[in-house]
Amino acid sequence: AATPTLPVLGHRFARELPELAVPWQAAETPEPHLLSLDEALAESLGLDPDWLRTPDGIGLLTGTALPEGAEPCAQAYAGHQFGGYSPRLGDGRALLLGELADRDGRVRDLHLKGSGRTPFSRGGDGWAAVGPMLREHVVSASTHALGIPTTRALGVVATGRAVQRETVLPGAVLARVASSHLRVGTFQYARSTGDLDLLRRLADHAIERHHPDAASAEHPHLALLDAVVAAQASLVAQWMLVGFVHGVMNTDNTTISGETIDYGPCAFMEAFDPATVYSSIDTDGRYAYGNQPLVLQWNLARLAEALLPLLADSEEEAVAVATRSINAFPDLYSAAWSRGMRAKLGLPADVDDATATSLTTELVALMAADHVDHTSFFRHLAHAARGDAEPSRGLFLDLAGIDAWTTRWLALSPDPSAMDAVNPVHVPRNHLVEEALDAATAGDLGPFERLLEAVTSPFESRPGQERYAEPAPDSFGRYRTFCGT
Ligand code: AMP
Ligand code: MG
Ligand code: MG
Repeated sequence: AATPTLPVLGHRFARELPELAVPWQAAETPEPHLLSLDEALAESLGLDPDWLRTPDGIGLLTGTALPEGAEPCAQAYAGHQFGGYSPRLGDGRALLLGELADRDGRVRDLHLKGSGRTPFSRGGDGWAAVGPMLREHVVSASTHALGIPTTRALGVVATGRAVQRETVLPGAVLARVASSHLRVGTFQYARSTGDLDLLRRLADHAIERHHPDAASAEHPHLALLDAVVAAQASLVAQWMLVGFVHGVMNTDNTTISGETIDYGPCAFMEAFDPATVYSSIDTDGRYAYGNQPLVLQWNLARLAEALLPLLADSEEEAVAVATRSINAFPDLYSAAWSRGMRAKLGLPADVDDATATSLTTELVALMAADHVDHTSFFRHLAHAARGDAEPSRGLFLDLAGIDAWTTRWLALSPDPSAMDAVNPVHVPRNHLVEEALDAATAGDLGPFERLLEAVTSPFESRPGQERYAEPAPDSFGRYRTFCGT
C-alpha cells in the first residue's frame, strides 16, 4: 500500500534549543536516483519502502520535497579534532530534517548528509560523494547487524551532481536515522556560549531523549554524565570485540546516546595489532585500534568539563564528582570487554574471572605477536571446540604457543554454538568495501548489494558467500582510508 500522506516531522530539537539550530534548506538535486534503501528500517519508521522509491519519497530522502510545516535545520556544535579545539564546527554539509516516531514510539532523527553548504561549511563544498555515503550505509548496516548501537542509513540517493575531489566523483545524499545527533561537541558548544540556561536545557533534553532514569536521580545532570560514560564504555568495548577501528574519534563524533556515528575513515581490522591505523590523516596513531578506550575516556572528560556548572554548587565539588564519574570509565570498559571476551570464547558461566582473564590476556599477546586475522580466528575457534583445531591453529606462526593455549581453553568445555552466535563470519572487509564502492561509483551496484547482504547476515554463511569470509589477498597491500569525502 502506498503512503498517501507524507510523514509528520517533529521539531523538538529546534523548538527546545533554537540557539543550536539554524533554519536551512537542502540544495536541489539535478537528477536524483535512489541507490540504496534499508526497507526494514523504513518500515520501522512507518515509511512505505515503495513510496520512498517514488519521486515524492526521494524528495523526502534528499530534503527537497518535505512535508508541510517541516523546519529543517543545521545543528551547531564544537569539538576537539585530533586533540585541537574548534569552537564552531556544526553541520557543514548536513541537515536535521526533524524527528519521527518509530513503531515502538521512540523518537528518531531524520538527518541528511551531503545536502549542500550551510552557515557551518567553512571551506567545505557541502557535498558528499557516492562512494563514502554507500560506505556509511554498508558499514553501519554491519555494525547494526552485529548488535552494536549505531546511527543508521535509511538510504543513499545519487544526486546527478558532479563533486570535485582528487577526481570528479558522482555526488550523493545519505538519509541517516539516529536516536539523536547530540554529541559531546554539542555540549562543548553550549558551554562555550556562557549561557547556562542553554546548557541546562540541552542537558535536560538529552536526559529525556536518552537517559530518562537520570531525571529521577538526586543529581540528574551528574546522573546524565554517568549514563553517557556507561553507554560509551559499553560501545567502545563492542567495537574492540569485533575489531572495529572508528578512525576519527573527535568529540564531535562521540554521541550522547552511545550510538556509533560518522562512518568516515573507519575499517575493520584484519591482522590483529593494537597499533592498527587506517586513516591517512591519523599520522600519530591517536585513533589506533588499541587507543580507542583511552581516547573515549578523554572525550568523556571534555563532556564532564562542559557540564561542570551543572554538577554542583561549588566548582571544587563539581570537579570532584565529575572526576569520580570519568574515573569509573576504565572499570566499566574492562567489565564490558571481559564479558564480551567470555562470550567470544564460549566460556561456561562457572569459569572464574581470574582464569578467564589470564586466558584472554595470553590470547591477545599470541594474536598480536603473529598478526592473526581477528575475524577468522574467533570464528574458526569454534571448530576447535568441536574437535578440529587446525583452522584456528593454522593462523599462527607460534604453534607451540597456540597449542598450549588451546589445550588450556578446551579444558574449560567451551560451547561452540554460543561462539557462533557472537563471532561473525562476515564483516565488511576492506578489500570488499573498496571493490563494492569502486563498482558503484562506476555505475554497478551488484557488488555493493552482495556485500550488504553478506554483512547483514553476519553469523551465517551461505554457499557462494565464501569470499566474504576471506582476508584480503596480499596484493591488496596496506589499507588507507580518507575522511571528508
Ligand atoms: P567529520 O570529520 O565528518 O566529523 O566532519 C567534521 C566537520 O567538517 C563537520 O563540521 C562537517 O560538517 C564538516 N565537513 C566535512 N565535510 C564537509 C564538506 N564537504 N563540506 C562542508 N563541511 C564539511
Ligand atoms: Mg562528524
Ligand atoms: Mg565524516
